[in-house]
Amino acid sequence: MGHEPVAGQVFSHRYLQHNPGFLQIATPNSLVGPWVDSDLHPSNHRLVMRTQQLVDLSGLAPRLAEIAPRPVTDDEILAYHSPDYLDRITALDAAGGGEAGDGALMGPGSLAIARLSAGGVIAAVDAVMAGPTRRVFANVRPPGHHAMRDRGMGYCILGNVAIAAHHARRVHGLSRVLVLDWDVHHGNGTQDAFIDDPGVLFVSVHQDDHYPAGWGAAGDVGVGEGTGYTVNLPLPAGSGNATYRAAFDRVVTPIVASYAPELIIVSAGQDASIRDSNGRMYLTVDSFRWMTQAVIDLADATAGGRLVVAQEGGYSESYGPYCTFAVIATLAGETGLIEDPIAARGFDRNTTSTQVNAAAEAALGAIVAAQRDYWPVLRG
Ligand SMILES: [Zn+2]
Repeated sequence: MGHEPVAGQVFSHRYLQHNPGFLQIATPNSLVGPWVDSDLHPSNHRLVMRTQQLVDLSGLAPRLAEIAPRPVTDDEILAYHSPDYLDRITALDAAGGGEAGDGALMGPGSLAIARLSAGGVIAAVDAVMAGPTRRVFANVRPPGHHAMRDRGMGYCILGNVAIAAHHARRVHGLSRVLVLDWDVHHGNGTQDAFIDDPGVLFVSVHQDDHYPAGWGAAGDVGVGEGTGYTVNLPLPAGSGNATYRAAFDRVVTPIVASYAPELIIVSAGQDASIRDSNGRMYLTVDSFRWMTQAVIDLADATAGGRLVVAQEGGYSESYGPYCTFAVIATLAGETGLIEDPIAARGFDRNTTSTQVNAAAEAALGAIVAAQRDYWPVLRG
């Protein structure tokens, strides 16, 4: 008998069957756009599928424990979502699909797949709570962090991570759960789920003034008993590896270490990558490696190593899967299986990798100022 792998993965080919339809840039007066050949929806199946191909073809798969997803129950959905919303998406599903909310299209079978997506993150939580696997990547779709209590939103139908965090507290009795959201968009659904609740520390690193509009300002720090337990790091478009490193060093790492979570869940969208169509950041594979190592180190220091990383966004078919693969490989303690195709050609050598520019320095200053009353953050 060999040792059980320290890292695991949740995946199902069923995830690839969710079809969000078409979406393209078009003038407001045109329903179909000027094209004959439509674009694939940005949140199509290919990123998750290609990540899985890298895991399989690189030889990493045998190093990962396979964690089977299960569908979430109504009861688990209702820990976050409203009964009206569950009724509505159930009716939509029976009709073959439709719009669960702004930008959240359901195709045939999408509700069952969304249940398996949220249930995949729950299975990951159960696996790391039971051990010996301590770190699990949930390569799920559809994503979840934009889904609000009463409506779908932004490609998200069920709030996967919010549902899993509720599960961690209800079933495993945890009193301090960290959700770290590094998707380039703000995790509005997850923030809203725990806005007045100190039992879940929500930390979001995202592109400022992006999607969804009006969310994720540095001054949004939670309400009531949850004041101080929502931490927003809005970074200006054009931020790269150096700014993310500074944001972790000055804000994310000291806050998480101080909170001392019993479980870490990462909402991992790789849409802050340099080639992503839906973001304007400049991260390369290197950042996804060290950000993952940073949360591993924090989990080891405070949470008995318990770490779940759940797939959210990421839209560069050519580069996003390399970034996601780097996350999974780092969870498994592997660094050398696949090179960064951009770094190999020197394309990562730009000033965003080495310098925090003036706009980013100002943003970090505002973030530190907003958090200083609550946490031991560091000035630059
Ligand atoms: Zn995103």
